[in-house]
Amino acid sequence: MTSPSATKALEHLEGHFEEHLSDLKALVAVPSVAFAGFPPAELRRSAEEVARVLRSRGLEEVRLLEIEGAPPYVFAEWVEAPGKPTLLLYAHHDVQPAGDEKRWKSKPFEAEVREGRLFGRGSADDKAGVVVHSAAIGSWLQAAGRLPLNVKLLIEGEEEVGSEHLAELLRRHRDLLQADAIVITDTANFDTGLPSITTALRGLVTAEVEVRALESSVHSGMWGGPIPDPAMALCRMLATLVHPDGSIAVPGIQEKVRALTEEEKKSFASLPAGEAEYRKQAGMLEGTEMLGGGRNPYETNWRQPSISINAIQASSRKDARNIVCDAAWARVGIRLVPDLDAKQTLEALAEHLKRHAPWGVKVELKTDIGGGWWYTDPGQPLFQAAGRALTAGFGREPLLVGCGGSIGFVDPITRELGGIPALLLGVEDPYSNPHSENESLSVGDFRSAIRSEILLFEELASALAR
Ligand SMILES: [Zn+2]
Repeated sequence: MTSPSATKALEHLEGHFEEHLSDLKALVAVPSVAFAGFPPAELRRSAEEVARVLRSRGLEEVRLLEIEGAPPYVFAEWVEAPGKPTLLLYAHHDVQPAGDEKRWKSKPFEAEVREGRLFGRGSADDKAGVVVHSAAIGSWLQAAGRLPLNVKLLIEGEEEVGSEHLAELLRRHRDLLQADAIVITDTANFDTGLPSITTALRGLVTAEVEVRALESSVHSGMWGGPIPDPAMALCRMLATLVHPDGSIAVPGIQEKVRALTEEEKKSFASLPAGEAEYRKQAGMLEGTEMLGGGRNPYETNWRQPSISINAIQASSRKDARNIVCDAAWARVGIRLVPDLDAKQTLEALAEHLKRHAPWGVKVELKTDIGGGWWYTDPGQPLFQAAGRALTAGFGREPLLVGCGGSIGFVDPITRELGGIPALLLGVEDPYSNPHSENESLSVGDFRSAIRSEILLFEELASALAR
C-alpha cells in the first residue's frame, strides 16, 4: 500500500522531473575520466558537482571523502528518522574515456536527448545512478518534509579503474557508512522498460602458462620430427581443459557448482529470451554451435563456470616462418560461480595443466585472483519489498537476473560492512552502450527508476524494521 506521503512524493517528481534531468546533464558535462593520463582535476570538479546536486536536494553533511592516491568519493546523509533502518545508497561519478570522438553523433560531454534517450558519456554508467538517488530523496523531502527511513550516500570516484581504495575507505569510515542494507544503482536491466534485480555475479581467476622445450627456436626442416614442439604441447594441454559440450574438464571445478534453487529455476524458465536472442546479442556466426549441454544460455552464462583462452602466443602471425618455436604461451581465464574457491580453482588448473604436459616439456605458471563470485539469496524479505517497488515504479514485474561478468566492488562493500544485504538495481538497458561510443540512457527508464526508489524507501522501511 502506497502511503499518502509516498503518493505526494511521486506527484512531486512528476512536476519536477525536468530538474532532475538537468542535474544529470550537468554531471555529464564534467569529463570525469578516471583513467591514467586524464586530468585528475576533472574528477575533483565532478565530485564537487555531485556534492552541489546532493545539497540542492536536501541532503546533509555533504562532503568529499579523501584517501591518498584516490579520486574523491562523495558522502552525504539524511538520518533524521530515529529507530528506522538505514540504507547505504551507492553509485559512481567517474566514467570511461570517450573513445573515438568521431563516432559520437553528439558531443560525449554535452548531454543531448534524441528519440527518448539521453546521450553522453556517463549518462547511464553511472551518473544516472547518482541522480536516481538524489531525485528520490529530493522528492520525499520536498513533498513530505522527511524520508521514511535513514539514508547515507557513497558516490565513488574510481569504479572504472577497479575501486582500488574502496575497501580501505570502508574500513576507515566504517561507522560513518554503517547501514542495514545497500542499494547499488549500477547494473543493467534485461530490456528497456523491464526492471531487473541482479542477484549473482561471477568471479574471475587467470593463469599465464608458458611451455618450453628448446634453448632457442630452430629450423623446422633441419631439426623437426624428433624434437618436441612447445606450441603443439601447449595446444594438447589446453585442449584437455573442456569437454566437447564446453563444460570444464579440470577435476575439482564442475562438481563444486552449487545447484540452482527452485526460485532460480523458476526465474530462468520465465526469462523472456533464449537461444535466438543470445546468439544475436553475442554476434555468433551462422552455423556455430551453442554450448552448455542444452541449458538456457543465460543460465550457462550466469550460473556455470566458464574457461576461456584470452591470448595465445608462439612466434607471431607477422613473423611466421619455418621453425619449431622454443616456447609457447597462453593466458587462461576462469569465471567463478558459487561454491568455487578462487585459490583452489587455480591450484586445480595448475595441477591439471602440468599433468597433461606431454614429452617432458617445461611448464611454468603465473596465476592471479581477480575476485570472487558474489551471490545473494533472493528469498530474503528485502527482495519481495524491492519487487513491489519496482513493479509499481515500472508498471512491470521485475526479473531476477545474474551477470556473467564481475563487479569488483560488490563483494568488498558487503563484506566490510558486516555482510549486509545488497540490492543491485539497473538503469542501463541493452542499448545503453556503456564504455563505448554513443552511450545513452532511456529517459523513460530513468523516470521509472526514480519512481521505484521513492517507493523502495517506504517498502524497505518496513521490510528492514528491527
Ligand atoms: Zn558503472
